[in-house]
Amino acid sequence: MGAQQVRDGFIELYGTEPDGVWAAPGRVNLIGEHTDYNDGFVMPFALPHTAVAAVSRREDGRLRLHSADIEGGVVELEPDSLTPGSDDGWASYPAGVVWALRDAGHPVTGADVHLASTVPTGAGLSSSAALEVVVALALNDLYELGLPGWQLARLCQRAENVYVGAPTGIMDQTASACCESGHALFLDTRDLSQKQIPLDLAAEGMRLLVVDTQVTHAHSGGEYGKRRAGCEKGAALLGVDALRDVPFEGLDAALARLGDEEEIRRLVRHVVTEDERVERVVRLLESGDTRAVGPVLTEGHASLRDDFRVSCPELDLVVGTAVAAGALGARMTGGGFGGSAIVLADAADVDTLTKAVEEAFAAAGYKAPRVFEAVPSAGARRLS
Ligand code: ADP
Ligand code: MG
Repeated sequence: MGAQQVRDGFIELYGTEPDGVWAAPGRVNLIGEHTDYNDGFVMPFALPHTAVAAVSRREDGRLRLHSADIEGGVVELEPDSLTPGSDDGWASYPAGVVWALRDAGHPVTGADVHLASTVPTGAGLSSSAALEVVVALALNDLYELGLPGWQLARLCQRAENVYVGAPTGIMDQTASACCESGHALFLDTRDLSQKQIPLDLAAEGMRLLVVDTQVTHAHSGGEYGKRRAGCEKGAALLGVDALRDVPFEGLDAALARLGDEEEIRRLVRHVVTEDERVERVVRLLESGDTRAVGPVLTEGHASLRDDFRVSCPELDLVVGTAVAAGALGARMTGGGFGGSAIVLADAADVDTLTKAVEEAFAAAGYKAPRVFEAVPSAGARRLS
């Protein structure tokens, strides 16, 4: 969706020019899954798919929200009376951002918003974060708040956690706000320190494919909550603030201390080994050994499938098929129970791999997956 199209949509809807147009991307996570609520490491990069918003500032205490992608017209709210937990449907995401900004003391008096997004929804590619971050960045500019990306991400996370009521970590919003084109973002979710890691797969003859299984298993919300609670219990049993504090070298000893808490042991093992995998991938990329990242991805998938138990048959089929057909590596990405997987492959193998996955899905009687190439793209920005 281009800036001009969204600008035109705004004019048609509200009868005036917008003050500006902004974009914020969805993301895929290269490695570091279910670590962001354990104070651990993640490494997402931004997709070329973005939410684009045309926005004007208002001084009269009104907030008008419209999405070209949703039927139902303009949602009208008052910034003064925004209340966490009130169900405004899709509009809860942008309304939550206004609420979070105001709750943090920023004088946001109102806005007109018209947006459209090319980020697939519910595919584990963070369409919700794109929506939040594009609105936050627009208001940051229009109200001259001067907040840096990581702080906007924090406020967006608060909007999603408290206002919308979805208990997500900090990765998605930070990725959308802070990623840079041609780079993956190595993020320490404890102190939000970041490092941009160059990732130019095309230059090395490789591609990263996203395979959207187009399934979402209904119980994902409850299972996510259970995993979070289990991780907290594990940290408490081990006497640490968060599982991030269990050193990889001390994993066996930690697991031994958990005795017969088999379920907790599995969760701890995933989180601690996953943090180590992120650090390993950073080292491999920094030393130029990009091909060697593949097997680390596949190892991460096995851990998510067997220990953390958040995969599903469709995701396992993507990974199993891709690896058997010659991919360098593959894993589910995002929270799991459906959504998307990523496949790292030699450029020459892309067509064969895509066909193999599509055929395997057809043979299993699954809905056809959506396969596209993901190039590390720019984070949130003003377009005009
Ligand atoms: P994900 O972030 O993985 O795509 P979520 O369930 O977290 O999935 O967020 C999806 C929700 O975000 C949608 O149900 C909708 O409420 C909102 N959303 C995403 N994109 C848009 C859009 N273009 N217009 C309106 N709402 C959107
Ligand atoms: Mg989301």
